[in-house]
Amino acid sequence: MTLPELRNRHGEKLDSAFHPGRRENALLVLGHSGCGAIKAAMKAETVPGQISSLYPYLRGAVQQSGGNISKAIDANARAQAELLRTSSTVIRDAASKGGIKVTAGIYDLGTGKVTLA
Ligand SMILES: [Zn+2]
Repeated sequence: MTLPELRNRHGEKLDSAFHPGRRENALLVLGHSGCGAIKAAMKAETVPGQISSLYPYLRGAVQQSGGNISKAIDANARAQAELLRTSSTVIRDAASKGGIKVTAGIYDLGTGKVTLA
């Protein structure tokens, strides 16, 4: 499976926003508590906009969760980080050379705390 084209908040493609010469490069895939997209995917509900187009990418995490939304959110963040590590040749090459770290975390909306997965 390949990722849909991802852009950062400045509209730059992730590959383009990545600067191989910088030592501090890191990508953090941040899931969040109570995620509506994950909830909807677990129920296979129809949702507005493009969220339903993400269902194929959420399905694996939902299947691993045993119906537990926290487990699904965690599994999804980890899976998306792994997809980033492996599907982008730029990121994959840099990660293999230690030039970038791709990791996952969960943002708890209730406490404001981020826990790295
Ligand atoms: Zn969400």
